[in-house]
Amino acid sequence: MSTKAFKIAVLPGDGIGVEIVPQGIKALDAVANKLGISFEYNEALVGGAAIDAVGTPLPKETLELSLASDAVFFGAVGGAKWDNLQPVSMRPEPGGLFPLRKSLGAYANLRPVVVFESLTSASSLKADRLEGGLDILFVRELTGGIYFGKPKERREIDGEVVAIDTCSYSDFEIRRIAHMAFLQARRRSGIVHSIDKANVMETSRLWREVVTEVAEQYPDVKLTHMLADNCGMQLLRNPKQFDVILADNLFGDLLTDEAAMLAGSLGMLPSASIGEQHGGLYEPIHGSAPDIAGQDIANPIATILTAAMMLRYACDCPDGAVMIRCAVESVLNEGYRSSDIATEYSNVVSCSKMGDLIADKILQD
Ligand code: NAD
Repeated sequence: MSTKAFKIAVLPGDGIGVEIVPQGIKALDAVANKLGISFEYNEALVGGAAIDAVGTPLPKETLELSLASDAVFFGAVGGAKWDNLQPVSMRPEPGGLFPLRKSLGAYANLRPVVVFESLTSASSLKADRLEGGLDILFVRELTGGIYFGKPKERREIDGEVVAIDTCSYSDFEIRRIAHMAFLQARRRSGIVHSIDKANVMETSRLWREVVTEVAEQYPDVKLTHMLADNCGMQLLRNPKQFDVILADNLFGDLLTDEAAMLAGSLGMLPSASIGEQHGGLYEPIHGSAPDIAGQDIANPIATILTAAMMLRYACDCPDGAVMIRCAVESVLNEGYRSSDIATEYSNVVSCSKMGDLIADKILQD
């Protein structure tokens, strides 16, 4: 492990972003204290907060800081005040987060869905479907597909307003994300489910062809193709059949939100967005949750587990990642819960208190 200070660009963003990111930093500081490593944090504006302050969702300074850092620790962006601004490039997600991911070359979004034993009762599924725990890794393509394809516009055709989104994928984009999924599967139980709609979409037909071709280089990994609608159903019917799920940008987005409820809440799921040139962007999978923002009640665990992914992938510090994960598990085992995962027997704590408990646990162990 390196002895240098890791340069972390900290971008809290909007809504609960400003409440959850400090909880992740507490966990990182506790790890730094225990392992004798150090972090240099530099905070910058993104999303609605940046629009309000300087008139653009991704200021030049924020992009430059992110590119010059070892990793970017991101909260969430968006809110009613900014989500309908025109042009679309002025909005927090399409104008802030998406170009940031693209500029960092972060084409692979790794989203682990882990059900902690103590949270099986918070899951939307019956406990028997999750017995023995659940551990799925989604590998979602992040910088292509329908969120980026051009044209993306409205036109008047024969007197009617027509909205157009374009889904396009190159064989190069599909090949590199497929390699990522197979490499991850090799380190796990060696099963990849590749998700598409090859029955109706041309991009999906290319996706299936290229993934099949890449699979030939990984004879030790079992590949199954599955239609996206079937996958949505199978995640609820028998989630334990899955190990690595490879999906494009749109299907990955939808299916991981669904899978979040297996883990009890959107507030439990971390993610790492990585590529080849940069240490990556680390963000919880949820949004800025305006409905609960400003109340100190958000669940910070997704963000704290995101900090653990950053330690593993960007800071070459797998020990720190394990320390965070064990601390989260212990605090949950002791019965502490944020309100989104609480039952009548839980000890319900605030967002900041949960951050303190997890950081203290790291320091004590
Ligand atoms: P959301 O993920 O913000 O919230 C969906 C629901 O989950 C809400 O009821 C919210 O209270 C709850 N929730 C989310 N995170 C939680 C947490 N940590 N703890 C407890 N509950 C949590 O999605 P949304 O409501 O559809 O979108 C709100 C805003 O966030 C929009 O502006 C949207 O564009 C933006 N958004 C941003 C990102 C991102 O920054 N990566 C992702 C998705 C949505």
